[in-house]
Amino acid sequence: MQNIETIYIGGAFVTPHGEERFNLFNPAKGEVIGQVRLADEQDANQAIAAAKHAFPAFARTSRAERLGWLSRMHTAIEAREDELNEAIIEEYGAPVSRARWMAKHAASVFLDMSLVLENYDFNRRVGSAKVVMQPAGVVGLITPWNSNAGFICGKLATAIAAGCTAVIKPSEMSAIQTRIVTEALHEAGLPPGVFNIVTGRGETVGATISAHPDVAKISFTGSTAVGKSILRAGAETLKRITLELGGKSPVLVLDDADLAIAIPMAIQAGFMNSGQACIAGTRILVPASRMAEAEAIAKAAVEATVVGDPRHFGTDIGPMVSQKQWDRVQRYINLGIEEGARLVAGGPGLPDGLAAGWFVRPTLFADVRNDMRIAREEIFGPVLCLISYEDEEDSIAIANDTPYGLQGYVMSTDIERANRVAGRIDAGRVLINTLAHEPKAPFGGFKQSGLGREYGTFGLDAYLEPKSLLGLHAA
Ligand code: NAD
Repeated sequence: MQNIETIYIGGAFVTPHGEERFNLFNPAKGEVIGQVRLADEQDANQAIAAAKHAFPAFARTSRAERLGWLSRMHTAIEAREDELNEAIIEEYGAPVSRARWMAKHAASVFLDMSLVLENYDFNRRVGSAKVVMQPAGVVGLITPWNSNAGFICGKLATAIAAGCTAVIKPSEMSAIQTRIVTEALHEAGLPPGVFNIVTGRGETVGATISAHPDVAKISFTGSTAVGKSILRAGAETLKRITLELGGKSPVLVLDDADLAIAIPMAIQAGFMNSGQACIAGTRILVPASRMAEAEAIAKAAVEATVVGDPRHFGTDIGPMVSQKQWDRVQRYINLGIEEGARLVAGGPGLPDGLAAGWFVRPTLFADVRNDMRIAREEIFGPVLCLISYEDEEDSIAIANDTPYGLQGYVMSTDIERANRVAGRIDAGRVLINTLAHEPKAPFGGFKQSGLGREYGTFGLDAYLEPKSLLGLHAA
């Protein structure tokens, strides 16, 4: 049993004022593995005060100093990679291959941001003006459970590069990862108060940060519903708000695609991170003329997907993170059946041979219409829809007929055509015949998938305020 009793404020591990104990689970067993003592509003206020106090000096630090800290943070997180990997498997249930990637990613984001910072132009000439990019102030960073360590590190790396100080509200369900990350970052030796980490509930700590007048900017990753509430809470003080929210990403399999390659890749795009991925390709759009062929390949690929113990090499899909998430996915599977979609693989209930843990059967529906709820709403589990289209125009119309716009995928053997189609998808990122990530490219959503962008120079811009200085003669 892990008992986590401290939060991190002003460069020190302190006992929170909040007294609530929150259970931590191993989702592969459905068993309690520890408890975290949660911070409350008073703790959040203290953390914000510490970040506010640290800001004026930190805002004036040089590029070289910030690069030094980013490097030390990278080294510190990298040194805990094995422990972080273990926590991600134990507490989140990510399969080993995914967990290792996530643990490495939590370290590599510091290096990615160093590269951006090295070349970033903080002082620009625009006409007769000198434009100075000035740190925005205290930033509130709020993360979800499906990639907690990676989002803490990615958002914090950007804040440090910009010269902002931070109050981080991690997911309360990921407290073991947060403990490891906090201990590692403490070793990096940043000035006290530059970053503060307060694990608590969203309704208390998250809401306090989102409304606090001393917080200049929020960067939030999580659900669309909570993102909207943060936007409303921040409106009173006109916070700068970056939101990375949900998705219902289309995978456009064009009629020239090699289905033997495209369909298994589409299934992989849908099942990444056990289906608990905002960028999951959950609507697979296939030409009606090739649907029978595609369905057969998809059925075989889904049935070959290994669900089970995340510690086994070869496991593709681990458990859902919580009982609540398991129930939600079950509701959607039953809803798909009620809506008249045809179950091709999977279905309700536990997978064969798994009696405990929050596992779901990898599920594929065919005969899905794009107006069904299973095609419109984010399920956040391994449940995919096959949707047929008539021609290229129809495929683009269906792809864009969604309240979301986080990511799209195009599969085709004709690269020019794929690029043309990709250019018409309303999404922040479109992947053509690949599932690869590019950390330098902006990441974020159109429409209700979010506001603003993270990563790379676009990500750094969002933590800075441009200030125009006029009437100068200095260079
Ligand atoms: P969530 O929105 O419930 O919670 C996210 C975070 O917000 C948690 O730390 C939570 O405690 C906090 N929170 C909850 N209520 C709050 C409030 N009123 N004020 C401030 N903070 C509050 O999301 P989740 O269930 O943790 O994560 C799953 C969701 O995240 C999915 O919808 C998924 O699509 C989305 N997500 C998006 C991205 C992306 O980059 N676009 C990445 C991962 C996850």
